[in-house]
Amino acid sequence: MIILAIETSCDETSAAVVKNGKEILSNAISSQIELHAKFGGVVPEVASRKHVEKMNPIIDEALNAAGITFADLDAVAVTHGPGLIGALLVGLAEAKAIAFALDIPLIGVHHIEGHISANYIEHNLKPPFLCMVVSGGHTHLVEVKDYGSYNIIGRTRDDAVGEAYDKVARSIGLGYPGGPKIDVLAKTGNGGAIDFPRTYLEKGSYDFSFSGIKSAVLNYLNQMKMKDETINPSDVAASFQEAVIEVITNKTMMAAKNLNMSKIALAGGVASNSRLREEMHRKAKENGYELYYPSPIYCTDNAAMIGIAAYYDYKNGIQHDMSLNASSNIQFG
Ligand code: ATP
Ligand code: MG
Ligand code: FE
Repeated sequence: MIILAIETSCDETSAAVVKNGKEILSNAISSQIELHAKFGGVVPEVASRKHVEKMNPIIDEALNAAGITFADLDAVAVTHGPGLIGALLVGLAEAKAIAFALDIPLIGVHHIEGHISANYIEHNLKPPFLCMVVSGGHTHLVEVKDYGSYNIIGRTRDDAVGEAYDKVARSIGLGYPGGPKIDVLAKTGNGGAIDFPRTYLEKGSYDFSFSGIKSAVLNYLNQMKMKDETINPSDVAASFQEAVIEVITNKTMMAAKNLNMSKIALAGGVASNSRLREEMHRKAKENGYELYYPSPIYCTDNAAMIGIAAYYDYKNGIQHDMSLNASSNIQFG
């Protein structure tokens, strides 16, 4: 079964060709990072316009790289939420047009289900497993019971991890998106230099909160400035990172233990963070869990992961008609 998948939920225009829910025949991505960098974040209207411009060329690129034509497609998959509404609509309209013209099934995919499914691309991973979703807009601890069957056991009550990374990066003068820059800068800093708060919430809670540490970093920077003391950005980056990673890894271990899981997966843009991977590895090994995460290109937004998720959704009988709408905040699980 050959699926053309489309992803336009944020600032990546992507199209991929996926065979039998496993083989990535192509994964074309046009990132708008440079376009939005000068604004310090994604500007929704600018993103939508760029998606319109890039959509058809990216689909051509994906088909060409896969060595196929429209006639070879068995289904078309698309992210229909959550994300920026104007951005989602570009991909959805395109997917509907292709599905209608070729008279093939349309499969709407939840973006976070896509991120989780990215783990199936390179690994022989099968549910059940525990997945820690750490992306730009979401922080979910998910019990993946089966393909398409999810139970969110914990989530952030305020900022997402990626969001915290990006905001802290901005406060120490790194550009957008700051996550990857903090990752690099932190390697030269001392993670124990500044004691930023670790927010665990109520005992036993799987929920997260990252707004406190974001404010703590800002307060620290302001206090240092007022005292006219020199700020070491590497130490700030490393200390911030140690604090959030400690909480994320500890809660993941606690959940794996309580749910009796033997496998743990990471998903979303922050899953490409080197320190998070390292710490998760250390603790997983210590507790006897198998750990999985996608290559960086499959951690951040891409259409390949949407094609993989769509394959399993389709096998579970999911298919949509032309009334499918985009939604900025559809439920998951
Ligand atoms: P969502 O998937 O929740 O809708 P999104 O699609 O915008 O949000 P992703 O594409 O999953 O987010 O990931 C982008 C986020 O990942 C950004 O916040 C970025 O800073 C972060 N990120 C990417 N690489 C790294 C890294 N190496 N270390 C830390 N953060 C990173
Ligand atoms: Mg992005
Ligand atoms: Fe994403």
